[in-house]
Amino acid sequence: MNVILLGPPGAGKGTQARLLSERRGMVQLSTGDMLRAAVAAQTEIGKAADAVMKAGGLVSDEIVVGVVGERLDMPDVAGGVVFDGFPRTTAQAEALDALLAKKGLKLGAVVNMAVDDEAMIGRISGRYTCASCGEGYHDTEKVPAKPGVCDKCGGTTFTRRKDDNAETVRARLKEYHAATAPLISYYSAAGKLSNVDGMASIPEVTAAIDAALNGKE
Ligand code: AMP
Repeated sequence: MNVILLGPPGAGKGTQARLLSERRGMVQLSTGDMLRAAVAAQTEIGKAADAVMKAGGLVSDEIVVGVVGERLDMPDVAGGVVFDGFPRTTAQAEALDALLAKKGLKLGAVVNMAVDDEAMIGRISGRYTCASCGEGYHDTEKVPAKPGVCDKCGGTTFTRRKDDNAETVRARLKEYHAATAPLISYYSAAGKLSNVDGMASIPEVTAAIDAALNGKE
């Protein structure tokens, strides 16, 4: 099944997309991760995206849709895709509809993770990930069982995203409300939308997403 996780930065899209890919063997397609990889590799796309991402703005639809289109050409997407951080604008949603139709793929569901803006700033400012396996942690909400050692892989190096500071987070939230929130109506009108409470605990949100996906294909 192909699923979109919708919600502002910090809603838990990455965490839940990762869990969905582990449980259901779906490909996690995170445009944020793909763009960060392009920035690190200093590709043309990375160079174009770097400053926009640092400022908390949105990378152009053309670049992002191009990256997603290429990823959807890979054979592993046949087992299902969980879109994490894409689409973020109505133009991207329309482009995704066209891409899926062209590739003979179907959109199974869109899960909207509803959260509270102010809480997102605290969530994002405290988050970090294992540099080896990508498992996510938080300074107060989710610490490794053994301090400094990843629960999942035993890695001891952790990274924080450059754009996870309060100022950039506010810009990202503003972009979300202006450009991305209208997608809630877009997918509701298409009969695809389910709402889950993104303020609940990680396992509770996982269960709510599972319930929303049950019976859909
Ligand atoms: P994320 O990891 O999803 O929070 O994305 C980090 C940053 O990458 C965003 O603040 C944007 O600058 C950029 N980005 C990621 N996905 C998109 C997208 N679908 N459209 C435009 N910009 C994006």
